[in-house]
Amino acid sequence: MCIFCKIIQKEIPAEIVFEDEELLAFKDMHPLAPVHVLIIPKRHIESINDLAGQDVELAGKLIIVAKQLAHELDIAEKGYKLLFRVGRDGGQEVPHIHLHLIGGAELYEDIRPIG
Ligand code: AMP
Ligand code: ZN
Repeated sequence: MCIFCKIIQKEIPAEIVFEDEELLAFKDMHPLAPVHVLIIPKRHIESINDLAGQDVELAGKLIIVAKQLAHELDIAEKGYKLLFRVGRDGGQEVPHIHLHLIGGAELYEDIRPIG
C-alpha cells in the first residue's frame, strides 16, 4: 500500500484539514511555504497519466476543494499555487495523485525561463 493510502486508512498519522467520501486533504510534512496542503483522491490513482475520461468529476473536485481550503486558510485573496507533479521529470515522489496547495508567501519563482 502506498504511503498516502496508509494516511487514508489512518495507519499513519497526518494533519487532516478536509475529508469526505472521495477526497482527503492534509498538511505536507515538509512545507514549502506557510500553507502547504496536499489534496488527494481516496482511490489509489498513480498520477495524472492514469486519469480516465470517467474521472473528470473527481479531477475537478480536487480543484474545487483546493479553492475552498485556500479560502478557509485565508490565502485566497493574496493568491497561491496549485501544482500537480507527474512522473520523474515532473519531480513526483509519491505515486498517488496529489494536488499541492501552496501559499502564504510570495511564490513567483520556481520554474524559470530557459535560455
Ligand atoms: P511530490 O514530489 O509532488 O510527489 O510531493 C510529495 C509530497 O508529499 C512532498 O511535498 C512531501 O513532503 C509530502 N509527503 C511525503 N510523505 C508525507 C507524509 N507522510 N505526510 C505528509 N506529507 C508527506
Ligand atoms: Zn495510494
